[in-house]
Amino acid sequence: GGEPRKEDLQRITELMDGFKASKALFTASKMCVFDLLQSRPGLNAAQVAEEIKASVKGTECLLEACVSLGLLRSKERKCQKPVYENAGLASRFLLSDAPFSLQGYIQHCDKTVWPLFSHLEDAVREGSNQHEKAFGKKSKDVFQDTFYNSLDVKLRFMNAMHSIAKVTGKAVATAFDLSSFKTACDLGGCTGAMAYEFTKSYPGLSVTVFDLPAVVEMSEHFHPLRTDNRVSFVAGDFFKDDLPKADLYILARILHDWPDEKVHVLLSKVADACTPGCAVLIAETMLDGRTPYSALQSLNMLAQTEGTERTESQYADLLSKHGFGNTRVVHTTNFLDAFIGIKL
Ligand code: SAM
Repeated sequence: GGEPRKEDLQRITELMDGFKASKALFTASKMCVFDLLQSRPGLNAAQVAEEIKASVKGTECLLEACVSLGLLRSKERKCQKPVYENAGLASRFLLSDAPFSLQGYIQHCDKTVWPLFSHLEDAVREGSNQHEKAFGKKSKDVFQDTFYNSLDVKLRFMNAMHSIAKVTGKAVATAFDLSSFKTACDLGGCTGAMAYEFTKSYPGLSVTVFDLPAVVEMSEHFHPLRTDNRVSFVAGDFFKDDLPKADLYILARILHDWPDEKVHVLLSKVADACTPGCAVLIAETMLDGRTPYSALQSLNMLAQTEGTERTESQYADLLSKHGFGNTRVVHTTNFLDAFIGIKL
């Protein structure tokens, strides 16, 4: 009984309003508000509106929402309209050219994940992804039939992977001491962003990025300078083709795309390529009930792929069926945790 408590109301409002905050962030990012205010801090709403070709009324609303979310700061001036500048969070993550820019991921969330989540109820009822309802395309393989069907969508997806991999790559690479490994193969290594973080962390390591031909043909787009000759690219299908030989196989955000049956196909190929002492490094967010992050990522996998996030013991179990043991996990404070198993 009694009146609702203030903290409860705050918490429930935060949850109900989460989608509004997300969309405000996506919209400001898409309209290049943060890039604009980085190069020209101190603009007022009318000036921003003119630059981003939007209404003054709408721009004022959006800028104030970004202030309330801690993305922008506003300075009130006597008898004049407030002016705006980026807060630290925006300068670190929301500029298109920041080293830890999450713009690519944000665009993917806006254009792909948002429409998929509007069919979440169906995803829950059916236990399957919602590409067909959201985008009108039937797909058997989400990557080959949906993401890589058009150049636009492919680049957007690759940018999304690239941005997260750049932010989390070092934390994954250094979670364990991997300096005894000389060769690694990053299965589904996409743009190579993770591979470059591994070679930066281990001067004696070479990494082969293995991904579908549609992805590998774009690798120069992401690394125009090819500064590190210890990273190379091989095109192929990891369910069908021979895997490049390596001492260490990296599976970063791969297993969460697939159901157990397909994970077994992939892990048995990895196991066949391994000799005792070789290792598999899994980089995923571990389902552990500690924060909503991994559970929400799992919903994301439901709506978007054939897979799911898994717990530490589920990964240990999957690996043990293919002769990997001595498993260890490191919970990083970044997007992905690191899990290692050694071929016995
Ligand atoms: N490992 C990267 C990372 O963590 O940033 C990318 C993860 S992304 C979720 C999954 C990757 O698996 C994509 O790059 C995709 O192209 C690749 N992939 C999907 N199916 C594949 C297949 N059959 N053979 C090889 N790569 C595949």
